[in-house]
Amino acid sequence: MNLCSIKTVKSLLARYSTDTKKGFGQNFLINPAVPFDIAEQSYLYHQGVCSDKACVLEIGPGVGALTSELCQRYDKVVAVEIDKSLIPLLGETMADYDNFTLVNEDFLKLQLDSFLDEHFGDSRVSVCANLPYYITTPIIMKILEEGKGRFASITVMVQKEVASRLCATSKDSDYGAITASVNYFGKVKRLFDVAPSNFLPAPSVTSTVIRIELYEKSPYSVKSEKMLFDVIAGAFAQRRKTLLNSLSSSISFVSKARLGEIIEACGFDISIRGERLSVEDFCTLANALYEEK
Ligand code: SAM
Repeated sequence: MNLCSIKTVKSLLARYSTDTKKGFGQNFLINPAVPFDIAEQSYLYHQGVCSDKACVLEIGPGVGALTSELCQRYDKVVAVEIDKSLIPLLGETMADYDNFTLVNEDFLKLQLDSFLDEHFGDSRVSVCANLPYYITTPIIMKILEEGKGRFASITVMVQKEVASRLCATSKDSDYGAITASVNYFGKVKRLFDVAPSNFLPAPSVTSTVIRIELYEKSPYSVKSEKMLFDVIAGAFAQRRKTLLNSLSSSISFVSKARLGEIIEACGFDISIRGERLSVEDFCTLANALYEEK
């Protein structure tokens, strides 16, 4: 079955008395070259860094266009789909694959640790997905924060603007709290753009496939991750202000004067803005502030 044929997708949806749902961010891939390339990029990287059973987690399989490509490469594929009307449909489209497991859940509500234990045991897992755009950032942050050490890579399609933010450096205008936070966990690579015409229905924006290559052992030494993320969030809370002014509004356990001293003792100019700090700089500042608590 060609799961990227518009005719096939429409007739499957009609047969299962459903349709594409905007509320679930449903834009299904209709060019077979795209899911092929996404799955290939995910699998080749995974194979290079993991030697045991190849395991992948997909969020939002839709009608299964990317899922079937993953099933042809990985040893084990687990997909989490929120839309219950797609569950019997996927039962039909994925019937040929005995390495596939479907879970009807909201990914954001999953208890990720026990979910990974149950489905993948000790294996390191990669994530591969065409993400629903309305919850891209919470999905990525959940994987990074709750799945620490369990994931090898995240190959996902996101809005082009989100990709630009994730791939920015501290010299770019797109650099923000999400850039610094994600880059703490791994290296972000921009892979390729995908035009709206490749989806049913066509979204209003261009999409980009990115891969986050997660550190197995972090290159950063941080005394408290909570402090690090509080400092990053505080530094970008008022972007136009200096780091000192923005941070002093959100960090209350030191005076503004002492905060200024700490910023300077870390080697930064007192008038620096948060957007100039690299992940390493944020770690230095967070460690210094941790000592003050
Ligand atoms: N993978 C398919 C493809 O590429 O054609 C569909 C991708 S579509 C952009 C996003 C998918 O995510 C939809 O199937 C949607 O129902 C599902 N989805 C949306 N929110 C979800 C959530 N919170 N948990 C799990 N799946 C979700």
